[in-house]
Amino acid sequence: MNIHEYQAKQVLKSFGVSVANGIPAFSVDEAVKAAEELGGPVWVVKSQIHAGGRGKGGGVKVVKSIDEVRSEAERMLGMTLVTHQTGPEGKVVNRIYIEEGSAIERELYLSCLVDRETSKIAFVASTEGGMNIEEVAEATPEKIVTVHVEPAVGYAPYVGRKIAAALKLEGKQVKQCVKMIGQLYEAFTQKDMALLEINPLVVNGDGDLICLDAKVGFDDNALFRHKDIMELRDETEEDAKELEASKYDLSYITLDGEIGCMVNGAGLAMGTMDIIKLYGSEPANFLDVGGGATAEKVTAAFKIITSDPNVKGILVNIFGGIMRCDVIAEGVITAVKEVGLKVPLVVRLEGTNVEKGQKIIDESGLNVISASNLDDAAKKIVQAVKEAA
Ligand code: GDP
Ligand code: MN
Repeated sequence: MNIHEYQAKQVLKSFGVSVANGIPAFSVDEAVKAAEELGGPVWVVKSQIHAGGRGKGGGVKVVKSIDEVRSEAERMLGMTLVTHQTGPEGKVVNRIYIEEGSAIERELYLSCLVDRETSKIAFVASTEGGMNIEEVAEATPEKIVTVHVEPAVGYAPYVGRKIAAALKLEGKQVKQCVKMIGQLYEAFTQKDMALLEINPLVVNGDGDLICLDAKVGFDDNALFRHKDIMELRDETEEDAKELEASKYDLSYITLDGEIGCMVNGAGLAMGTMDIIKLYGSEPANFLDVGGGATAEKVTAAFKIITSDPNVKGILVNIFGGIMRCDVIAEGVITAVKEVGLKVPLVVRLEGTNVEKGQKIIDESGLNVISASNLDDAAKKIVQAVKEAA
């Protein structure tokens, strides 16, 4: 789960991390009131969406008067902000953040994540902050330094000193860095974060180190033990279909192809997506209904797939192990009866109760194309979609 910048800063602040003062606003009036309360003379008006690159897209503006705060708030609230992270459709700005403006001496990059290769928490630092870190990694990888934290030791000041050296910090900034990295490590581990990115981390006009941006994502599997974090969830930022799927505990990811897939098991789902591509089409989603799916869950999954206007055909590919083929068949039939079927549907069943499942589908009177194996199934659905087009 991701949260907004202002929420991330509130969380970090509660661990002592140095961030600028700011107030979120949902309306122009609130924005003006916030600016008055902060006092100025410089403010930053920042669009709050779950995506980066806002600055380049016109979603972050440094202003020097209350009038400008008002006009920027008017412009940003309700606008569709397109950045390199939102995709071409962009994201609607429903809230903004009014922050005290900082003078910037240097813009640095800092992030913290779980490094899967070493199974350790790692800090990634670079002197090239503010800009696209992917470009820095591509063009000048030597400017990115990674420092691991030994899990048996926990945070130790030498980690902070290594990062301070990598960032070419001087004087009091070194001490501030050692302290801040410790605080970030505390926040990261205590709140079960999956990713923490501060871009830019800046040296301000007073020569102090301060976080100017904050992007935080949490490990969904640990959210149950962080009620305070769960309250920060903004469902309007999430894909509607993925949100619906999460209510039924389905592993679902929206993709931009045309063939909707309903599969059990993540590996089989990946294989199904690959073979659809092999036969010249593209999957519209990843969907793993899981091992012990009920007919109700299958119905929900089917409805989510058919609600996607990009779906031109559906491929159900089930290997019945723990999951029984007849349960899948029941779910598919129930869903089709409820929501109708406007696109070709290919069903391939194999494994436990396959005959029973096949019989349910054959006797349903619905226009379902049966397939005998995965290869056959993929070929048939790609063909059917081509013919329907
Ligand atoms: P992002 O574009 O979504 O990553 O949003 P950021 O919060 O990183 O802001 C984009 C850019 O706006 C930063 O890299 C800074 O250059 C600039 N910016 C943000 N806050 C301030 C500020 O307080 N003062 C000044 N001078 N510039 C700022
Ligand atoms: Mn940023």
